[in-house]
Amino acid sequence: MALRNILTDKEPALHKVCRPVVSFDRKLHTLLDDMKDTLLEANGVGLAAPQVGILRRVVIVDTGEEILELINPEIIQTDGEQEGAEGCLSVPGRYGLVKRPYYAKVRAQDRYGNWFEAEGEELIGRCFCHELDHLDGILYTQVMERFLTEEELNAED
Ligand code: ZN
Repeated sequence: MALRNILTDKEPALHKVCRPVVSFDRKLHTLLDDMKDTLLEANGVGLAAPQVGILRRVVIVDTGEEILELINPEIIQTDGEQEGAEGCLSVPGRYGLVKRPYYAKVRAQDRYGNWFEAEGEELIGRCFCHELDHLDGILYTQVMERFLTEEELNAED
C-alpha cells in the first residue's frame, strides 16, 4: 500500500482516452489499493486511474459506506438532472458549476473481473459521471458552465 502522486490538469495523461483493463492481476490490485489510500489521504469522493498517471479504465468512488472499485465501467442508465458545485483533486482549489444527471447506474467489473451494477443519486450520481469522464480524458472544466467565484463558494458552506 502506498500513496500515489495526483496529477494536475496540466499533465497530458489527464487528457487521454484510457484503455480497458484486461488483466485482473496483482498489479491491478496494487493499483486499486494505492488509489484507495491516495483518495482517503486527499479526502476526495472519487479517483480515476489517469489521475495517478495510469491510462487504464479504473475508478474508485467513496460512497460513504464503502469504496466502490469500478473496472471498465459504463453508465447504463441516468435519470433527472442536478446543477451544483463540482471539484476535482486534479484541479486543486477551484470549483465549477456543472450540470449532471441526478441519478446514474453503472455496470463495471470488480477486481476479479466479475460484472456488477451500482447506482447512486446526488453526490454519488455526480461522482460516477465525473470519474467516468476522466477515463475519456474529459475534466469537469470542459463540461462546466463556469468556475464558481470565491463569494459563491463561501455561500455554499
Ligand atoms: Zn476529477
